[in-house]
Amino acid sequence: MPAELACFQERCRARFPVSEVIYNCPQCGSLLEAVYSGARQPAADLRALWLARRTSNAPLDQSGVWRFREFLPFLPSYDSVVTLREGNTPLLGAPRAARYGGLDRLTFKHQGFNPTGSFKDNGMTCGVAQALRLGMRRVACASTGNTSASMAAYASAAGLQPVVFIPHGNIAYGKLAQALEYGALTLQIEANFDQVLALLRRLAERLGIYLLNSINPFRIEGQKTIMVEMMEQRGWRPPDWVVLPGGNLGNISAFGKALRELKDAGLIDRLPRLAVVQAEGAAPFYNLLRAADRSRLNPVGHPQTLATAIRIGAPVSWPKALREVEASGGLVEKVTEQEIADAKAVIGRCGIGCEPASAATLAGIRKLVHAGAVRADADVVAILTGNVLKDPDYIYRYHTGVLESPGGGLIQPNFGNKPVVVPNNEAQIAAILDR
Ligand SMILES: *Cc1c(COP(=O)(O)O)cnc(C)c1O
Ligand SMILES: [Zn+2]
Repeated sequence: MPAELACFQERCRARFPVSEVIYNCPQCGSLLEAVYSGARQPAADLRALWLARRTSNAPLDQSGVWRFREFLPFLPSYDSVVTLREGNTPLLGAPRAARYGGLDRLTFKHQGFNPTGSFKDNGMTCGVAQALRLGMRRVACASTGNTSASMAAYASAAGLQPVVFIPHGNIAYGKLAQALEYGALTLQIEANFDQVLALLRRLAERLGIYLLNSINPFRIEGQKTIMVEMMEQRGWRPPDWVVLPGGNLGNISAFGKALRELKDAGLIDRLPRLAVVQAEGAAPFYNLLRAADRSRLNPVGHPQTLATAIRIGAPVSWPKALREVEASGGLVEKVTEQEIADAKAVIGRCGIGCEPASAATLAGIRKLVHAGAVRADADVVAILTGNVLKDPDYIYRYHTGVLESPGGGLIQPNFGNKPVVVPNNEAQIAAILDR
């Protein structure tokens, strides 16, 4: 199926060959998206094909992204694809979390089961395949988080040099450790995130380095498969709601595009509503949805939240995200640090666990159900975006009651589980265990 890059801006819609190294529309500067023309296979054939691939031992078929390759046909051949068997993440029922959220039932789709522990892997296998297809030798991103961890792994697996640009004073050690271990050339630069990104864009152009920041449209294509896989797991029955955390808003953009394409292909008969949850200290998209004028997003100057994966003040994909929220009849909620921390501990007690940003989903659901925006009997899927081990420091501090909110003050360990210090004394330990 012929693929092109199209400008997202309605007034422009300029088209460019998919093999051009561009990140924004050269004519108007807007976001780009992959578009496909030509006839799709019938829905029944696609379902049968994707199901049959689950018994295959071919690496491409074992990938939870490339198994659905008919939905992302932007490559001329699949020889250059490097897969670490990304995707293939479970749907997990969580009655305890459902009760906490005020729902009769709740299902998590846990993207933390990915090879590097976050949904970034779904997109990165596509971004790196595109880099290889373009003949690039080096790839780069500006991030201290899951993007750099994922990019480092996929680039190294593909024999490319990963380069990570880190803004000064913003080091998240758990995720940075992965970037180092996977062999990324890691540059710490004394500048803020926006300055680092501007620098990276100039250097990428000058030195022929391929950019894999969240603006990259091929990463979005890969993240679409999270929705395709979820629908397949549910026997193609759409839930009422899909709830996810929002940072740069690439994931919501990917989900919305996927759902519209699934409906166009006849694979689902209606769109679930999309609910995005932001942290109160980093909620520019929440503010936009409440503004009289939705044509311009006001960035948050100093975004603050312990959920570092969604600590974003100027989300690059907001125009796409706005389209998808509006198209699905969706909404945007915001939650406090305390609400995120407690929801996270509840998800942990389900035996599931996740990183802080992911827990914004359950915190948001609780608020939306209490406000009557989501019905208690609704069929809800919440996306857990990252693995519990991404941020062990946060966990230990919460459970021992020393987790500090960025706005000041301590977060209450309402679901705290402190280690108990005991003397080496059988009788005393037995007494504690008997309690
Ligand atoms: C990247 C990330 C997010 C935010 O996703 P966006 O696409 O930037 O909105 C949320 N949670 C985790 C764990 C992430 O890594
Ligand atoms: Zn344009």
